[in-house]
Amino acid sequence: MPPDIKPGQVQLVGAGPGSADLLTLRAVRAVEAAQALLFDALISEEVLAIAPPGCVRIQTGKRAGKASMDQGEINRLMLLLARRGLRVVRLKGGDPSIFGRSGEERDFLERHGVAVEVIPGVTAASAAAAQFAFPLTHREEARRVIFATARVRDGAVVEGGWQAGADPETTLALYMARDAARLVSDRLIAEGRCGDTPALAVENAGAPHARLLSATLSNLADVVEAAAPTGPVLLVIGDVAARARGYAVQGDTPDIIARRAGL
Ligand code: SAH
Repeated sequence: MPPDIKPGQVQLVGAGPGSADLLTLRAVRAVEAAQALLFDALISEEVLAIAPPGCVRIQTGKRAGKASMDQGEINRLMLLLARRGLRVVRLKGGDPSIFGRSGEERDFLERHGVAVEVIPGVTAASAAAAQFAFPLTHREEARRVIFATARVRDGAVVEGGWQAGADPETTLALYMARDAARLVSDRLIAEGRCGDTPALAVENAGAPHARLLSATLSNLADVVEAAAPTGPVLLVIGDVAARARGYAVQGDTPDIIARRAGL
């Protein structure tokens, strides 16, 4: 069934954490029908391969030494392509509505008369939780999840606003926070969160080579620094983190699972 879109629309499509089998069917159909595809740095080759041969592919994120486009350029390019009547798909890692600038892009395009559809995706926190066997909420243990970033627009670290994360029944999923782990831990402890609270860092969630680092809130920054991750990292702070198991249970071949479990 072809996707229900008219030419000249833009679809903001969640590509999930990387594996093509974590795309929704709606996302797959949109990418299969794309005439112009704009994609971020974290989009995998496996997902890009779904686009048809004639589709114009434009990389907007930093990759292979090429600098990333700024948001204004991306907006103008999407508008230009949509006005030429192309079916434009903007592929974003994870879910477009979580630190994916979908609000800014929608505002811009709608202001210029272009219709926008968002297709949701699996966000990094969901992928990490599924892969490493821990829930984001748990009865009587974690009644809230906060998706937060430690960064503001210019890349500086968010200094305030950590009170909500101090609540012991809150799971904090922190995006773009790898280099801010120490500051975040210090702030949360200062706000009253216990230093013994279980914490995790998950690198490359959803991928076969994903890495799980277990810590507590007090030593999270040390653990992350010692591991020196190079891929995208999600931090998870809260009692649910104690349930994580250090091996993947989904999507991996038995030998990868065995190797990761040290067998
Ligand atoms: N829209 C995305 C988030 C984009 S912000 C989503 O819903 O997942 C980019 C940040 O997301 C990264 O700095 C990292 O903190 C996190 N992230 C994205 N993909 C990840 C992955 N596969 N594993 C771990 N963290 C990831």
